[in-house]
Amino acid sequence: MIYAVKKMFQDIAPHRYKNEYTPRPPRDGDRLLCFDGDRLLCALDAENRIQLPPCGGQAVQYLFSIDDTGYFLHEGTPLPAQAPYGYVPAKSLRGSFADETRFAAAVGGSLHRWYVQNRFCGCCGAEMEKGTEERSLVCPKCKNTVYPKLCPAVIVAVTDGERLLLTKYAHAPRNNYALVAGFCEIGETVEQTVLREVMEETGLTVTNLRFYKSQPWVYTDSLLMGFFCDAVGSREIRRQESELSEAAWFLRDALPTNHSTDSLTGEMIERFRAGLE
Ligand SMILES: [Zn+2]
Repeated sequence: MIYAVKKMFQDIAPHRYKNEYTPRPPRDGDRLLCFDGDRLLCALDAENRIQLPPCGGQAVQYLFSIDDTGYFLHEGTPLPAQAPYGYVPAKSLRGSFADETRFAAAVGGSLHRWYVQNRFCGCCGAEMEKGTEERSLVCPKCKNTVYPKLCPAVIVAVTDGERLLLTKYAHAPRNNYALVAGFCEIGETVEQTVLREVMEETGLTVTNLRFYKSQPWVYTDSLLMGFFCDAVGSREIRRQESELSEAAWFLRDALPTNHSTDSLTGEMIERFRAGLE
């Protein structure tokens, strides 16, 4: 069977994401990310590709580059919408054309949330200032330093010979199949997170953890780490009802297809279907 490789959300090759923190003023061709709350100023063309406005003369924060195009975050009061650009819910842009601009808009959204949520020092309440050497926010009064928020999490494909364990989240907006998933807690290793999350969500014990790939899931400020592993002991599932509406074994040749296509979860399900795990 040929394994159909689908691009994950962050796979923008041949374009290259450059996130070295090298602030500079905007140049011709650079793009502006201007958010009003959780809405982004942009236009969508006939192919549903995101078009971002150019940088004007406003106050901006350098974010990153893709190839030679710089992406800048608008600061201060959101700009008025002006044709062809209008404010679109950033969440809805997940369904837009999968290209490097969609990636830039999502990564920019995560950085935007971080800047907005850290305007004031959590220790003394003073207004934070931008670090000059690295991407950080520093309190001028008490020197409290805050770095971009990144929540490590695991995605776990539990296998049992020809069977794969699939779940459905009780509170997910889409009714898609998924894998066991959860955030790492302070004080535990990623491997311990895998064991704990599988036990909490399904009551199963697993072994033989195989790291597969990671994915920057910027929509929830997460860094996902995907593992395959084998069930041992009882294969009887005890579903965590508060988290999951479904948790069941599926045979390799009877796996459902309604799962996200540009995520690590989707790629791992398809990899199992193809017999590569
Ligand atoms: Zn402070």
